[in-house]
Amino acid sequence: MNGSIRLLRALAFAAEKHRDHRRKDANASPYINHLIGAARILAEEGRVTDDELIVAAILHDTLEDTETSYAELEARFGRTVADIVREVTDDTSLGKADRKLCQEERAPSASPRAKQLMIADKISNILDVMHHPPSGWSLERRQEYIAWAGRVVAGCRDVNKRLDRTYEQTVAQVLRHLEALPDQIPEPPG
Ligand code: NDP
Ligand code: ZN
Repeated sequence: MNGSIRLLRALAFAAEKHRDHRRKDANASPYINHLIGAARILAEEGRVTDDELIVAAILHDTLEDTETSYAELEARFGRTVADIVREVTDDTSLGKADRKLCQEERAPSASPRAKQLMIADKISNILDVMHHPPSGWSLERRQEYIAWAGRVVAGCRDVNKRLDRTYEQTVAQVLRHLEALPDQIPEPPG
């Protein structure tokens, strides 16, 4: 199949699967923005030309967050794409804190494609933490997210130097931005 057609099919598939799903920012942005963002970062910042990886970026949260099966991804987009998406999918039977720890532990042994996708995903989320943070997140919570993302990304380095550099530049920029902000958003109780 022509690469552009497969990419457009992935976008249509992800938009449909995530249609009722919103980001956590105050405006509840459409979820597809994050998927397009991660794919754009790979292609533009990481100069990735590998179609399998770009398509996997568009689909990367389908197994974790929607009613999509590995078999469905494999049938529509091929085994390589389905395998990359599976590699970046958390074990949803675990609690949130364990899932976060698990990502840190699994990152160093991930495939080179999955490592690049994890970095692009974290860059996209960190940009959101700066520009469109989840509502109710304090300054400390945002800084903690960036620290955790850094531990995951530490296990993903040295595959794509451009992405490594973009990650470092993004974090430096976001931390400068956060340090200049008054912490006006109180944590919700509990
Ligand atoms: P998360 O840290 O899991 O939320 C961030 C995730 O939500 C991102 O990785 C991203 O995942 C997704 N996301 C959606 N919208 C946005 C957005 N606008 N900006 C950034 N990310 C976004 O928070 P949860 O509340 O779901 O998880 C709870 C965990 O957080 C606890 O286990 C604990 O470890 C920690 N915690 C820390 C607190 C603190 O004060 N430090 C307080 C409470 C919990 P994706 O790419 O998959 O969309
Ligand atoms: Zn994501």
